[in-house]
Amino acid sequence: VADDPAVTLYGVTKTFGGRHAVRGVDLQVHRGSVYGLVGPNGAGKTTLLRMMCGLVEPTSGRVEVGGRPVSARRTPAGLGALIETPGFVPHLTGRENLRHLARVRGVDAGSVERSLGQVVLLDRADDRYRTYSLGMKQRLGVAAALLSEPAVLVLDEPSNGLVPTGVEEMTALIGQLGRANVTVVVSSHALADVEECCTHVGIVLGGRLVADGSLADILGPARVRLRASPHG
Ligand code: ATP
Repeated sequence: VADDPAVTLYGVTKTFGGRHAVRGVDLQVHRGSVYGLVGPNGAGKTTLLRMMCGLVEPTSGRVEVGGRPVSARRTPAGLGALIETPGFVPHLTGRENLRHLARVRGVDAGSVERSLGQVVLLDRADDRYRTYSLGMKQRLGVAAALLSEPAVLVLDEPSNGLVPTGVEEMTALIGQLGRANVTVVVSSHALADVEECCTHVGIVLGGRLVADGSLADILGPARVRLRASPHG
């Protein structure tokens, strides 16, 4: 069913040492949407994403990916994530780094070329990782997350620290993945960094999802009319 949610959170709460990082969040990310999770540092975005990836167990509530409950300490089937940069080796090329990861993860070598193409790094694939700009390093991280052809891609602040052109390239890449029918959940502390590529936005403040809806709902109809639609 096209309307099946790709990711669902039911009343999810997470506390660390009695302090709330996330409070009672209900959230649905529909298949094929690009969902931007926006909020200031410490709002709880990373904790939400880590719970989607099975890296953190909710204190209460539950998380489903692709209709299946997420169990702790296990990456859900069909999900790829860039939460922390993989341990890329500086003196190896981008392609060599991805080939190594593909071997470790038991993914076929053809996925390396496909992923490099998706993140627009084929022309720099034979350059050493240490010569890459931060934006290229982040795109290689996205390529690593795409190796297993995930239906759901989770990206934690992929534009953080990038120069404006790097942010634009990341935004274009995420928009392209959305058009290729990958469901994307992407966090950012700046709505401006993700609004060009997102179909839906959730605003996180103090561990709560305080607003959630289509980009038009969140930005207001007038503002949306002024900009080109990211999805045609
Ligand atoms: P940032 O952009 O800074 O990563 P964020 O919105 O992603 O912010 P989280 O990293 O989810 O926010 O953090 C939410 C709150 O939970 C913060 O107060 C943080 O200190 C706390 N927190 C997160 N992870 C842990 C942990 N493993 N142990 C203790 N406290 C934690």
